[in-house]
Amino acid sequence: MKLAMIGFGQAGGKIVDRFLAYDDRTGSAIVRAAIAVNTAKADLLGLTHVPEESRVLIGQARVKGHGVGADNELGAEVTEEDIGEIQGAIDGIPTHEIDAFLVVAGMGGGTGSGGAPVLARHLKRIYTEPVYGLGVLPGSDEGGIYTLNAARSFQTFVREVDNLMVFDNDSWRKTGESVEGGYREINEEIVTRFGILFGAGEVGAGDEIAESVVDSSEIINTLSGGGVSTVGYASEALSREESSGGGLLSRFTGGNEPEIDTAHTTNRITSLVRKAALGRLTLPCEIEGTERALLVMAGPPRYLNRKGIERGRKWIEQQTGSMEVRGGDYPVSGASEVSAVLLLSGINDVPRIRDLQRVAVEAQDNIEDIRSERDTNLEGLVTDDGDELDPLF
Ligand code: GDP
Repeated sequence: MKLAMIGFGQAGGKIVDRFLAYDDRTGSAIVRAAIAVNTAKADLLGLTHVPEESRVLIGQARVKGHGVGADNELGAEVTEEDIGEIQGAIDGIPTHEIDAFLVVAGMGGGTGSGGAPVLARHLKRIYTEPVYGLGVLPGSDEGGIYTLNAARSFQTFVREVDNLMVFDNDSWRKTGESVEGGYREINEEIVTRFGILFGAGEVGAGDEIAESVVDSSEIINTLSGGGVSTVGYASEALSREESSGGGLLSRFTGGNEPEIDTAHTTNRITSLVRKAALGRLTLPCEIEGTERALLVMAGPPRYLNRKGIERGRKWIEQQTGSMEVRGGDYPVSGASEVSAVLLLSGINDVPRIRDLQRVAVEAQDNIEDIRSERDTNLEGLVTDDGDELDPLF
């Protein structure tokens, strides 16, 4: 599936940068065009893969390249004001060659949190291609303002996109890690999951054809209908014997491909599907009640089989209660592992979102209380006890 990716704010830009690196590394060719938008010049300079002409600095008149400082209302305002500059960069994209837009942003900050929903609305007005969001929730230790920003952005972003895929930093950060080092690893996790998902619809004519290859229309159909999505993933390394079979080594030594143990191949697929669904999702949720799902099995074609995928698909139907579960292959000839990626679209039971909203309301009340007391408190501070002093003027 070919995407035009727009990274909004620091997190958005960095994640899109990693998607480009992933494309280079794997040759998956999912990023047809990449743009990074920010109000902070330094963040744009820090990117390595997004081409310089595709980095758009907005809000210069208001914030002079210094960012909006976690003020997402300001982030939304400057995006409205400078939407023409972003459109200028998008005009350079051959939109007839893309299947969809993907707007990526951290929802807890200012620029991406406020700007991404504004851009999504703009894109939906102008283009017929679907507009998807990839929104990152902040860690719960980042503080009230980030939680409040994220809760408000989430509400708005969901409404403006055709589907919002969510990644929750809170369930992925490890303790004792530097913030930057932590994000590097987290961003790789994000890119691996979504890279396999979107790469699945991009199997070219020259690639080995497996039994039932996932098509981009299946990804689009799973995401259509809107709402919120989460992604599960599990992978298993092939044994040395399996991965050398039919590869360079056996060609040199004149060896034959090892016999495929069909029962083992099928069992591996079904167990990977369970691990993907029951393990850590990008946004943890109860999978029962999910509206639609797509299972992608990636790996060397000889280790993917229809029976395993069919069983996995049926199991997901049982677990979710949904009759709209699609499944297929993503043949990757040189891969040294078999992976399952599970897109759960239209999830409804998400305790993490309820918690986020509760903390956000507390933060909002607290901010309002402090603001309303501000004038009285300041008056108390600057006035001497006996009110004997006079100001200069
Ligand atoms: P903005 O530039 O104003 O949009 O704000 P940032 O993108 O710097 O931060 C917004 C939120 O994104 C933060 O609260 C973090 O939760 C998250 N974040 C920042 N950088 C990264 C990153 O590299 N990866 C991930 N996964 N999250 C990030």
